[in-house]
Amino acid sequence: MSRLLSGPQLSGQQFGEGRLGVRSGVTDRTPAAVRLGPVGKCPDVPVLLITTVDNSGSVVGTGGNDPCGNRFQEMRLAIETVAKRCKCGDELVAMLNFDSPNSGDVAPTALRDGIGSLGRGLAIPQHSAGSSVLGPSLAQARHIADRHPKHRVVFVVLSDFQLFDSDVAGVLSEFTNFPGQPHAVVLRSAGPAALVEDPRVIVSPVSPTDPAGTLAKAIFTALTATRRIPSRKR
Ligand SMILES: [Zn+2]
Repeated sequence: MSRLLSGPQLSGQQFGEGRLGVRSGVTDRTPAAVRLGPVGKCPDVPVLLITTVDNSGSVVGTGGNDPCGNRFQEMRLAIETVAKRCKCGDELVAMLNFDSPNSGDVAPTALRDGIGSLGRGLAIPQHSAGSSVLGPSLAQARHIADRHPKHRVVFVVLSDFQLFDSDVAGVLSEFTNFPGQPHAVVLRSAGPAALVEDPRVIVSPVSPTDPAGTLAKAIFTALTATRRIPSRKR
Protein backbone atom coordinates (compact mmCIF):
# COMPACT_ATOMS: atom_id res chain seq x y z
CA MET A 1 0.00 0.00 0.00
CA SER A 2 1.37 3.35 -0.90
CA ARG A 3 2.03 5.68 1.99
CA LEU A 4 1.66 8.69 -0.24
CA LEU A 5 -1.60 10.10 -1.36
CA SER A 6 -1.62 13.17 -3.50
CA GLY A 7 -4.20 15.52 -4.92
CA PRO A 8 -5.62 13.47 -7.76
CA GLN A 9 -6.53 10.61 -5.47
CA LEU A 10 -8.31 12.68 -2.86
CA SER A 11 -10.40 15.70 -3.67
CA GLY A 12 -10.65 18.66 -1.33
CA GLN A 13 -14.22 17.73 -0.54
CA GLN A 14 -13.07 14.32 0.58
CA PHE A 15 -10.47 15.92 2.84
CA GLY A 16 -13.04 17.88 4.72
CA GLU A 17 -15.79 15.35 5.02
CA GLY A 18 -16.29 12.13 6.84
CA ARG A 19 -14.98 10.97 10.13
CA LEU A 20 -11.34 11.09 10.92
CA GLY A 21 -9.53 7.92 10.12
CA VAL A 22 -12.42 6.36 8.29
CA ARG A 23 -10.92 6.34 4.85
CA SER A 24 -11.07 2.82 3.56
CA GLY A 25 -7.79 1.17 2.76
CA VAL A 26 -5.60 3.96 4.08
CA THR A 27 -5.03 2.82 7.62
CA ASP A 28 -1.33 3.57 7.64
CA ARG A 29 -1.92 7.32 7.29
CA THR A 30 -4.90 7.49 9.56
CA PRO A 31 -4.50 10.55 11.77
CA ALA A 32 -6.97 9.27 14.34
CA ALA A 33 -4.28 6.96 15.64
CA VAL A 34 -1.84 9.83 16.14
CA ARG A 35 -0.95 10.84 19.68
CA LEU A 36 -0.60 14.58 19.77
CA GLY A 37 0.53 14.94 23.38
CA PRO A 38 -0.95 16.51 26.48
CA VAL A 39 -3.62 19.10 25.85
CA GLY A 40 -3.33 20.82 29.21
CA LYS A 41 -5.74 23.32 30.67
CA CYS A 42 -7.20 26.46 29.18
CA PRO A 43 -4.72 29.33 28.99
CA ASP A 44 -4.74 32.38 31.24
CA VAL A 45 -4.63 34.71 28.24
CA PRO A 46 -7.21 34.63 25.44
CA VAL A 47 -5.78 33.22 22.25
CA LEU A 48 -6.69 33.40 18.59
CA LEU A 49 -5.36 30.99 15.98
CA ILE A 50 -5.78 32.16 12.39
CA THR A 51 -5.02 29.72 9.59
CA THR A 52 -4.79 30.24 5.86
CA VAL A 53 -4.53 27.35 3.44
CA ASP A 54 -3.01 27.33 -0.04
CA ASN A 55 -5.27 25.33 -2.38
CA SER A 56 -3.36 26.16 -5.54
CA GLY A 57 -2.53 23.68 -8.27
CA SER A 58 1.01 23.17 -7.02
CA VAL A 59 -0.45 21.88 -3.76
CA VAL A 60 -3.51 19.93 -4.81
CA GLY A 61 -2.80 19.16 -8.47
CA THR A 62 -1.24 16.06 -9.99
CA GLY A 63 1.90 15.31 -8.00
CA GLY A 64 1.02 18.23 -5.76
CA ASN A 65 2.90 19.33 -2.70
CA ASP A 66 0.41 18.23 -0.06
CA PRO A 67 2.59 15.23 0.67
CA CYS A 68 0.29 13.49 3.08
CA GLY A 69 -2.81 14.26 1.05
CA ASN A 70 -4.87 14.87 4.12
CA ARG A 71 -3.98 18.27 5.49
CA PHE A 72 -7.58 19.15 6.28
CA GLN A 73 -8.12 15.92 8.20
CA GLU A 74 -4.99 16.54 10.19
CA MET A 75 -6.01 20.12 10.93
CA ARG A 76 -9.36 18.79 12.11
CA LEU A 77 -7.71 16.26 14.39
CA ALA A 78 -5.66 18.95 16.11
CA ILE A 79 -8.58 21.35 16.42
CA GLU A 80 -11.02 18.73 17.69
CA THR A 81 -8.51 17.43 20.22
CA VAL A 82 -8.14 20.84 21.86
CA ALA A 83 -11.79 21.81 21.39
CA LYS A 84 -12.91 18.81 23.44
CA ARG A 85 -10.86 20.08 26.36
CA CYS A 86 -11.64 23.79 26.13
CA LYS A 87 -13.88 25.02 28.88
CA CYS A 88 -13.11 28.72 28.75
CA GLY A 89 -14.51 29.94 25.45
CA ASP A 90 -11.52 32.28 25.15
CA GLU A 91 -9.64 30.15 22.65
CA LEU A 92 -10.68 31.25 19.17
CA VAL A 93 -9.92 29.91 15.72
CA ALA A 94 -10.42 31.77 12.43
CA MET A 95 -9.91 30.10 9.07
CA LEU A 96 -8.99 31.64 5.75
CA ASN A 97 -7.56 30.41 2.47
CA PHE A 98 -5.56 31.88 -0.39
CA ASP A 99 -8.82 32.67 -2.22
CA SER A 100 -10.36 34.50 0.74
CA PRO A 101 -12.77 36.13 1.09
CA ASN A 102 -15.07 33.27 0.16
CA SER A 103 -17.46 30.66 1.51
CA GLY A 104 -14.63 28.77 3.21
CA ASP A 105 -13.82 31.63 5.58
CA VAL A 106 -14.65 31.15 9.23
CA ALA A 107 -14.75 34.23 11.45
CA PRO A 108 -13.11 33.95 14.88
CA THR A 109 -15.03 31.15 16.57
CA ALA A 110 -14.70 29.75 20.08
CA LEU A 111 -13.17 26.29 20.06
CA ARG A 112 -15.60 25.27 22.74
CA ASP A 113 -18.73 24.13 20.92
CA GLY A 114 -17.45 25.65 17.68
CA ILE A 115 -16.26 22.63 15.76
CA GLY A 116 -19.42 22.62 13.63
CA SER A 117 -18.69 26.08 12.26
CA LEU A 118 -14.98 25.43 11.99
CA GLY A 119 -15.62 22.40 9.79
CA ARG A 120 -16.57 24.78 6.98
CA GLY A 121 -12.96 25.90 6.77
CA LEU A 122 -11.61 22.36 6.60
CA ALA A 123 -12.13 21.76 2.89
CA ILE A 124 -11.34 23.43 -0.39
CA PRO A 125 -14.10 26.05 -0.75
CA GLN A 126 -16.58 25.77 -3.55
CA HIS A 127 -15.59 27.94 -6.49
CA SER A 128 -11.97 28.01 -5.31
CA ALA A 129 -9.80 29.69 -7.91
CA GLY A 130 -6.68 27.95 -6.60
CA SER A 131 -4.85 31.19 -5.96
CA SER A 132 -1.12 31.09 -5.22
CA VAL A 133 -0.93 34.50 -3.59
CA LEU A 134 -0.57 34.95 0.15
CA GLY A 135 -1.08 38.72 0.26
CA PRO A 136 -4.89 38.93 0.43
CA SER A 137 -5.41 36.45 3.27
CA LEU A 138 -2.40 37.87 5.09
CA ALA A 139 -4.08 41.29 4.97
CA GLN A 140 -7.32 39.72 6.21
CA ALA A 141 -5.47 37.99 9.04
CA ARG A 142 -3.91 41.30 10.08
CA HIS A 143 -7.32 42.88 10.10
CA ILE A 144 -8.69 40.09 12.31
CA ALA A 145 -5.68 40.34 14.63
CA ASP A 146 -6.12 44.11 14.92
CA ARG A 147 -9.68 43.57 16.09
CA HIS A 148 -8.51 41.21 18.84
CA PRO A 149 -5.93 43.28 20.71
CA LYS A 150 -6.38 41.29 23.92
CA HIS A 151 -5.73 37.96 22.26
CA ARG A 152 -2.40 36.29 21.74
CA VAL A 153 -2.57 35.70 18.00
CA VAL A 154 -0.91 32.86 16.12
CA PHE A 155 -1.09 33.00 12.33
CA VAL A 156 -0.42 29.73 10.52
CA VAL A 157 0.14 29.61 6.76
CA LEU A 158 -0.13 26.14 5.21
CA SER A 159 1.51 26.31 1.81
CA ASP A 160 4.32 25.04 -0.37
CA PHE A 161 5.32 28.73 -0.61
CA GLN A 162 5.48 28.65 -4.39
CA LEU A 163 3.98 32.11 -4.26
CA PHE A 164 2.86 34.25 -7.19
CA ASP A 165 2.45 37.47 -5.25
CA SER A 166 3.77 40.41 -7.27
CA ASP A 167 6.23 41.17 -4.46
CA VAL A 168 7.05 37.84 -2.81
CA ALA A 169 9.86 39.27 -0.68
CA GLY A 170 7.56 42.02 0.55
CA VAL A 171 4.79 39.60 1.42
CA LEU A 172 7.16 37.30 3.29
CA SER A 173 8.55 40.28 5.16
CA GLU A 174 5.04 41.28 6.12
CA PHE A 175 4.41 37.75 7.33
CA THR A 176 7.54 37.73 9.49
CA ASN A 177 6.37 41.00 11.02
CA PHE A 178 2.90 39.69 11.78
CA PRO A 179 1.59 41.09 15.06
CA GLY A 180 1.67 37.80 16.94
CA GLN A 181 3.35 34.50 16.23
CA PRO A 182 3.88 33.76 12.54
CA HIS A 183 4.01 30.01 11.87
CA ALA A 184 4.68 28.47 8.45
CA VAL A 185 3.63 24.88 7.79
CA VAL A 186 5.63 24.21 4.65
CA LEU A 187 4.49 21.42 2.37
CA ARG A 188 7.21 19.36 0.69
CA SER A 189 10.10 21.76 1.10
CA ALA A 190 12.25 23.32 3.77
CA GLY A 191 10.63 26.70 3.22
CA PRO A 192 11.90 30.05 1.95
CA ALA A 193 15.14 31.26 3.52
CA ALA A 194 13.40 34.49 4.51
CA LEU A 195 11.26 32.44 6.91
CA VAL A 196 13.68 29.69 7.92
CA GLU A 197 16.35 32.21 8.87
CA ASP A 198 14.02 34.51 10.78
CA PRO A 199 13.90 33.61 14.49
CA ARG A 200 10.47 35.18 14.85
CA VAL A 201 8.92 32.57 12.58
CA ILE A 202 8.13 28.98 13.52
CA VAL A 203 8.68 26.79 10.47
CA SER A 204 7.22 23.28 10.37
CA PRO A 205 8.17 21.45 7.18
CA VAL A 206 5.99 18.48 6.23
CA SER A 207 7.62 16.10 3.78
CA PRO A 208 6.37 12.94 2.07
CA THR A 209 8.56 10.79 4.32
CA ASP A 210 7.12 12.20 7.54
CA PRO A 211 4.73 9.98 9.47
CA ALA A 212 1.00 10.62 9.50
CA GLY A 213 0.14 13.27 12.03
CA THR A 214 3.13 15.53 11.38
CA LEU A 215 0.91 18.32 10.13
CA ALA A 216 -1.61 17.70 12.93
CA LYS A 217 1.20 18.07 15.45
CA ALA A 218 2.26 21.40 13.95
CA ILE A 219 -1.27 22.77 14.30
CA PHE A 220 -1.60 21.20 17.76
CA THR A 221 1.60 22.96 18.83
CA ALA A 222 0.17 26.27 17.64
CA LEU A 223 -3.09 25.62 19.48
CA THR A 224 -1.52 24.55 22.77
CA ALA A 225 1.40 26.98 22.96
CA THR A 226 -0.18 28.93 25.79
CA ARG A 227 -2.22 26.16 27.40
CA ARG A 228 -1.22 25.20 30.91
CA ILE A 229 0.46 21.82 30.77
CA PRO A 230 1.67 20.79 34.27
CA SER A 231 4.18 18.27 33.00
CA ARG A 232 5.35 17.50 29.51
CA LYS A 233 6.04 13.95 30.66
CA ARG A 234 3.33 11.34 30.61
ZN1 LIG B 1 -10.29 27.00 26.64
